[in-house]
Amino acid sequence: MSDIEQLRNRINEITLHMTRLLKERTDIARQIGQLKKSSGLGVTDEVREGQLREEIIRLCREIGLDESLGKKFLNFLLNESVKVQSDGKQTHISIFLKAKEMERQGKKMIHLEVGEPDMFPPISAKAGLEEAFDTGRVRYGPTAGIPELRASLAEHVSKNFGRTVGPENILVTPGGRFSVFLAINTLLDPGDEMIVIEPAWPAYRECAINAGVKVRAIQTTLEGRWEPSISQIEEAVNANTKMIVLNYPNNPTGKILPPALQDQIIEIAKKNDLYVLSDEIYFLYAYGDWKSALASNYEKTVITQSFSKSHAMTGFRIGYTVAEKDTVSKMSRLQALCITNVAEPIQYAALKALNSDLSGFKRAIKSKIDTVVAEAKKINLEFEVPDGAMYVFARPKKEGFDGTSFTNRLLDSGVAVAPGEGFGNYKGFIRISVAQDEDTLREGIKILDSVLKGL
Ligand code: PLP
Repeated sequence: MSDIEQLRNRINEITLHMTRLLKERTDIARQIGQLKKSSGLGVTDEVREGQLREEIIRLCREIGLDESLGKKFLNFLLNESVKVQSDGKQTHISIFLKAKEMERQGKKMIHLEVGEPDMFPPISAKAGLEEAFDTGRVRYGPTAGIPELRASLAEHVSKNFGRTVGPENILVTPGGRFSVFLAINTLLDPGDEMIVIEPAWPAYRECAINAGVKVRAIQTTLEGRWEPSISQIEEAVNANTKMIVLNYPNNPTGKILPPALQDQIIEIAKKNDLYVLSDEIYFLYAYGDWKSALASNYEKTVITQSFSKSHAMTGFRIGYTVAEKDTVSKMSRLQALCITNVAEPIQYAALKALNSDLSGFKRAIKSKIDTVVAEAKKINLEFEVPDGAMYVFARPKKEGFDGTSFTNRLLDSGVAVAPGEGFGNYKGFIRISVAQDEDTLREGIKILDSVLKGL
C-alpha cells in the first residue's frame, strides 16, 4: 500500500470513529434534555458551556491544536445538543398554530400570543397596489429594491434615525425576519459566535442554529429591569464572537435600553470588531427615550426594519436593511439566490404608504399598552412597565408557576398567550400581546385571571 493510501485509510478510520462518537454524544445530549425538561430547567446553560470551553482551550494548548479551530468544533457540538434538546419547545408561533387549529374546530379564541397590529394598513398602500397594476409594475426588478423605494427609505432613515444614508445603504427585503436571516447567513460563518441578550425574539437563535452559528445568551432579569451589565457583555466576547444582536424597543419585554448603556455596548462591539445587528422594527412604538443604533456611527451596524408593525402591513411581507454598501451587496447576493427580488407591486404599495401619518397608530398602541398594564396590575402579575413595542412580559406571583403548561391550559379556556420559554430560560413568564381591541384585551385578561386562580 502506498503512503498516501495508508494515510487515507487512517483518515477514514478516524472519521468513522468520530461519527460513532457523535452518535453517542447526541444520544446523551437527548437524555440530558429529557432530564432538564422534567426538572423544569432551560436548554442552554452558559456556565456549563463556559467550563467545557475552558477545558477545550486547555486541551488545544496541550496538544498543539489551533484554539480557534477547537472552539469552532465545540460550537458545532454545542449547537447539535441545543437542537436535539429544543425539540418540542413551545414558542408564540407553536401556540398560534394550536390556537388556529382550535378555531378551525369551532372554538372561540382570543389571540394575545402574536404581535400583529389590529389596525388596518394606511389606505395609500391600496392606492399603491392599484397604481402598480395599472402602470404595469408587475415584472421582475432589481434585487436590492426599486430605486424609488430605496431613495425614499434612505431619506426616511436619514430624517428619523440619526445618520445620513443613501440608497446604496438600503436593501428592500420581504420582511424584517428575512433581513435577520440574510444578515446572519452572510456575515457569519459556521462556528462563529453571536451574542443575544435574552429574553429575545426566538428567530435570532433559530437563524443562528440554522447557520451553524453559536449563540452566547446573556440573561437579563425582571429584577435587573431587563438591562444587561457591561461586564456580562465583555465576558461573553471571545476570538470567535462576530456579532451582537440588539432589539429595542424589545420583544418580549418592551424595554428600551438607556441610550448611554446602548452606546457602551456598541463601544464594546467596536473595540472587538463585532457586527451590531439592531432590530428596530418597533421604533414607532417607542414611548421612552429611544435612540437608533445607527446614530452611534459605527460602520459595522446593520439595522433591520419592517412595514409590519409601524404600518400594520404584516401580510405585505416587506421590510428593509440599512447597512454599509458592502454589507448590502453581500446580503443582496443571497437575496438574489433565494427570491430574485421583493414583489414589485408590494414595493410600490410600501413606497406610497411610507410617509403616511402614523401618529394614530402610535397613540392606539400606547393606549392598548396602558390598558393591559392596568389590568395586569389588578391581577397581581409582576412585570416591568414596557417603554415601547406591544407586549407585556409578566410573571404571576405563584410558587413553581410553569408558563408552558399554563399557556396550554389557558388555550382550553379560549385565550392564547406566548409561553416565556420561547424567549430563553424564562419558564416562569408569559408574554401578553396588546395588539387587540381594548374590550378583547380586558376579556382575555379576565379569563387569564380566572385560570390562574384555578391553579
Ligand atoms: N423582529 C421582531 C423583534 C419581531 O417581533 C418580529 C415579528 O414579530 C419581526 C422581527 C418580524 O417582522 P416581519 O413581519 O417584518 O418579518
